[in-house]
Amino acid sequence: MTFMNTPVEFTARVVESFGRRAIVRTADGERLPAELFGKRLSIVCGDEVNVRMPRPVAAAAGDEPRIVSVQPRRTLLQRTDSRGRNEPLASNLTLLAIVVAPEPPTDPYMVDRYLAGAAYAHIDGAIVVNKSDLDSSSTLGEAVEEYRRAGYPVLTVSALNSHAIDDLRAFLKGKTTMFAGQSGVGKSTLTNALIPDLERQTRTLSDSTGEGRHTTVSTALFRMPGGGELIDSPGVRDFAPALVSDAVVQRGWPEIVAAAPQCRFANCLHLREPGCAVIAGIDAGTLSARRYESYKRLLNIMRDLAPDYERRK
Ligand code: GDP
Ligand code: ZN
Repeated sequence: MTFMNTPVEFTARVVESFGRRAIVRTADGERLPAELFGKRLSIVCGDEVNVRMPRPVAAAAGDEPRIVSVQPRRTLLQRTDSRGRNEPLASNLTLLAIVVAPEPPTDPYMVDRYLAGAAYAHIDGAIVVNKSDLDSSSTLGEAVEEYRRAGYPVLTVSALNSHAIDDLRAFLKGKTTMFAGQSGVGKSTLTNALIPDLERQTRTLSDSTGEGRHTTVSTALFRMPGGGELIDSPGVRDFAPALVSDAVVQRGWPEIVAAAPQCRFANCLHLREPGCAVIAGIDAGTLSARRYESYKRLLNIMRDLAPDYERRK
């Protein structure tokens, strides 16, 4: 008797989310539309969730599977708008891969900001230099060298002629990655090169309801052949790191974190403090003055966004 009344529950992955509705992928790869159960629940692409199936009678009446709870997130990437409000972009990412290219010209301050935002969310950062088929400017070469010296993995590829795409695929294996970077650097082309069956995996909620496709406006999770996942998000374009305190800002600069133990003061912010190992490193040329400038800029931005937050924590 109880059989029909016992709701069937299972865990699934949110591969696309649209406010109160989502597409979830079950353990055996099936994609199901689902809706959120309960007002307080909120989900983001990448979430692992518990889903409850409607009983057959309810399903026949049009009830959808319901997302009843979200499992703890290992990471949550958020962007902050100009008013300092945080908006989640994706969960359970392990890598933010910043794509740069000879064209359009790279804004290294933007790249630093992406890398810092990833670090604050405990997500690894890497640099993908795309369009290796084009002549690279010396400015890009210098910037890329700075990232290598700061300790970030750097991969040079071409989505156009497939140069080193296999290396990139191997590097991304076992990771949950999001590409970030300026418009035009080749993020979509790279995504398509890595996931040949992208179209098949892109069956959106709107498809299933016959409302047409809206893939460009939603964040979606794809599986890479050979292992690994890619989360494609339009929201990452105007990305700014979530609000953090002064002491945390420097965690976005691994080379500053590495030098800081040599500073005279344990709470050194590397601004004008005497005995600062970071400033000494810049004077000696072992640390990049441009990266340091970027650190100071973000520190100021964070202070402007939240003028009353505790500075030295
Ligand atoms: P997105 O805005 O970052 O998603 O960039 P797109 O993937 O739309 O690519 C922008 C432009 O760069 C398109 O015209 C692509 O064909 C071109 N592109 C992408 N990858 C490469 C590459 O490796 N080499 C060259 N030469 N062009 C590329
Ligand atoms: Zn210092």
